[in-house]
Amino acid sequence: MNKTPTLVAARTALPPEGAVASPGGLSAQPAVILLAEPRGFCAGVDRAIEIVERALQKFGRPIYVRHEIVHNTYVVNDLKAKGAIFIEALDDVPAGATLVFSAHGVSRAIQVEAQVRGFQIFDATCPLVSKVHVEVAKLHKEGYEFIMIGHKGHPEVEGTMGQLDDGSIHLVEDVADVARIAPRQTVKLALVTQTTLSVDDAADISAAVVARFPSVQSPKQQDICYATQNRQDAVKIMSPQVDIMIVVGSPTSSNSNRLAELARKLGVESYMVDNAAELQTAWFEGKSQVGLTAGASAPEILVQQVIDRIRAMGAVSVRKMDGIEETIKFPLPKGLKLDA
Ligand code: SF4
Repeated sequence: MNKTPTLVAARTALPPEGAVASPGGLSAQPAVILLAEPRGFCAGVDRAIEIVERALQKFGRPIYVRHEIVHNTYVVNDLKAKGAIFIEALDDVPAGATLVFSAHGVSRAIQVEAQVRGFQIFDATCPLVSKVHVEVAKLHKEGYEFIMIGHKGHPEVEGTMGQLDDGSIHLVEDVADVARIAPRQTVKLALVTQTTLSVDDAADISAAVVARFPSVQSPKQQDICYATQNRQDAVKIMSPQVDIMIVVGSPTSSNSNRLAELARKLGVESYMVDNAAELQTAWFEGKSQVGLTAGASAPEILVQQVIDRIRAMGAVSVRKMDGIEETIKFPLPKGLKLDA
């Protein structure tokens, strides 16, 4: 791998894209930013944001949103400025208000409480999360108990576990947890996962579940979503070619954290940043190839600001990697059609 020149060179003026930099009169190879493909917004995030924006346009401010609509500071602040109010407890929503459930989904108890209180509800739960809820409800009627692979306290996990109220979903966060769980029976057991896990970690935990409970039923299609899988695959392809990986994403974003973690596991120094201001010049010393990606909830504007900042440190070209083109689009719920 070419390690020269470093990004933090003594340059003040930015060379044009693709140009060869010559700091101090020395000839040098350009330092490159490799841009992951795909990166950033997925179909579920696009849909969730559009639901809030349309609700604001159609019904006016304020629109109440239970939990951060997606785990991204920029997105949440932008919607706050437009009139969204983010709450956790339904007690904080006034009678007659319009309420949006976040992309992570909610428990049955919250769904019922919101209906009883008579709010106008729009459900921005990602359809891929809803699919897991439907599967859990269906198999539960057939007498199944569940082993869920996920992160304790994550709203998606709380929403999925909250589809049942009889303690028949057992959460495992790692391989060690698999030995600790105590289902009431082992004949009818099914496996479900959070949609935004590390594909490799989930495979290891699934293998441990199958080893302990050989009759466990796995999902027909894995629950980890296409967007999580594709962004992790892109990091795997890119990692051998870079000296450092920057992941744009907020600290609460599960899939963004998994991208930074994956690059580290592959031996690449990796940092997750919420915005360009968090980049530290020292990270780039001695680095010539910078990998850049973004979690599924991070908007492209932040990626572009990070590119601008890294260019200001000396990067002279940006190369987009080849990758899967995502064309999935999810329909909006009824009642959000805007007047012409
Ligand atoms: S990351 Fe996956 S599950 Fe989450 S909103 Fe996007 S598509 Fe849906």
